[in-house]
This record gives sequence, C-alpha cells and structure tokens, in this order.
Amino acid sequence: MLKEASAVFLFKFEIMQVDFAHKNVLITGGSRGIGKACAQLFSELNANVIITYKSNKTLAEEVVASLNPKQNHCCFQLDVADPEAVESFYQDFQNQYKHLDVLVNNAGIFTEHKIETISYQEWQQAWKQTLGTNLTGVANLCYFAAQQMIAQKEGKIINISSRGAFRGEPDHPAYGASKAGLNAMSQSLAVALAPHNITVGVIAPGFIETDMASEVLAGEAGEQIRKQSPLNRVGKPEEVAHVVAMFASSGLEFMTGGIIDLNGASYLRS
Ligand code: NAP
Repeated sequence: MLKEASAVFLFKFEIMQVDFAHKNVLITGGSRGIGKACAQLFSELNANVIITYKSNKTLAEEVVASLNPKQNHCCFQLDVADPEAVESFYQDFQNQYKHLDVLVNNAGIFTEHKIETISYQEWQQAWKQTLGTNLTGVANLCYFAAQQMIAQKEGKIINISSRGAFRGEPDHPAYGASKAGLNAMSQSLAVALAPHNITVGVIAPGFIETDMASEVLAGEAGEQIRKQSPLNRVGKPEEVAHVVAMFASSGLEFMTGGIIDLNGASYLRS
C-alpha cells in the first residue's frame, strides 16, 4: 500500500528531485501518526530516517524496524519541551550524523483546557505544556539544526502547524496560539535563513486520523467534523507526509516561507 502511494508520488512529481538517497531526515514525534507516516515515506524515498519519541520507546522501535532496511535508521528519546534535553539530544545526534538535510518538527500535543471549566492552576499548566512543546520546543530544535545547516550551507526545515491557528481552537486556546506562533516563527526564520540556502516551510492540516484526534473523531462531534469538508472525511497521515516530502524536495526552494493548508476545504482562509 505504502509502496503504491510512493510510486504515485514519484510519478506525479518526477520533475522534482524526490530521491532522498544519502540524505538524513530527522522527524520529531515519529513513533505514531503523522510523524510515523513521514518516516515511512522518507524511507521509501531512500532517506536515512531518524525519529524521536517522548515516552513510547516500543512503538518508536517498531517504526524503525518497519522501515526500508537498506538505510541507516534509528530513534532517540526526546522531550522537546525540555530545553536541556534538546541541547544534549542534538549533541548526540550530531556526533552520530554529521549532516542534517531535513528537519521535520512534527511532535505536538493537543490537550483540552476550556476556559469556562478549569482552575487557574490547570490553565497555567496547559499553556506552559502546550507552548513548551508546540512552539518553544520547535524553536529550540530549529536553533541547533540551523547552526548545523548554516555550517553545511544548506538544509530544509518543515514545521507541522494546524488549521486551528487560523480557525481558532475554543476548547484548546493554547494549541491555537502555539500554532499561530509557530507560523510566525517559521516565516521569520525563512527570511533569516534564506541567505544560508536553508528553507523553512509550514503545513497546516485540518483534522487527521491519528491518536491525537481519535477521541474527538469517535465521539458525537466526529460526524460534524467530517462534514466540515465537502469531501466528507478527515485527512490521512500519509496525505500530510506527501506534502512534507514535497516541501523537502529539491526544486521547490522558492516555496520557503509558505504555509500550505491541508484541510479538504474545511476552512478556506483569504
Ligand atoms: P500523535 O498521533 O498524538 O503523535 C504525537 C507524536 O509526538 C508521538 O510520536 C509522541 O511521542 C510525540 N510527542 C508528543 N509530545 C512530545 C514531546 N514533548 N517531545 C517529543 N515528542 C513528543 O499526533 P499527530 O496527530 O500525529 O500530530 C502530529 C503533528 O500534527 C502535531 O504537531 C499536531 O499538532 C499536528 N496536527 C495534527 C492534527 C490531527 O488532527 N491529528 C491536525 C493538525 C495538526 P510518544 O509516542 O512517545 O508519546
């Protein structure tokens, strides 16, 4: 199934360089969902894939074991919300991999914190955790990756945002804010890093069938959410992975600073 999907991808985008042979692709949160689909697609496209996970080592190792055995894949434990952990992870990563071609900042959290119902303490906690993971964590990884990419004189950074940055997230306001901040940060970095031949792109998915969305999609709201798109469905992780690989391909550098909507026309922004 995945091979077929990759073949279609290769056929449709044959004018771009979508072969990632000898390229190192680092994907945060690669143990499940969108990150896992990215890991699988990049490995089909011949990349060395390095994934990180926060807590589920078994799942991460299963993903690594499922990848194309011709390349050199591995996984690292990392809590992206911990700045010291990011620094020491990056030192380990750089010792093992001398070159970083593509960084996919995918790891993220989506925890409910309705303003009407929670305590101030819970509110504080939700904002701290969400911004620490979805925004500051990404900024910190971008910091270290950018140092390596500046020295290399090339690199590609792709950040996974969300439709919620534009549409609002009434029950998850810190999530919406973290993704809006991520968009702004990515565009600033796209300008700052362009002279170093480093591109920065953003993908803003609507609801995607992963663990993160499974409870909401299985509940009462699920049907309404599917109907938000005229396709009457939500997205698949593989669809996001294809756009990530597209952004990472040679030949599309002029897309730097772009934010691609991937939401089945469920929210059209002007
Ligand atoms: P998911 O299925 O919940 O998987 C999350 C991944 O991130 C897991 O690999 C998890 O590791 C890792 N992770 C979580 N917190 C982390 C931390 N503090 N440090 C390092 N890794 C951490 O999520 P998903 O649906 O694939 O979402 C991926 C990205 O897409 C997120 O940025 C999310 O905001 C965005 N997105 C998702 C949707 C959607 O509907 N699913 C829509 C729009 C945007 P463990 O397995 O070890 O816990």
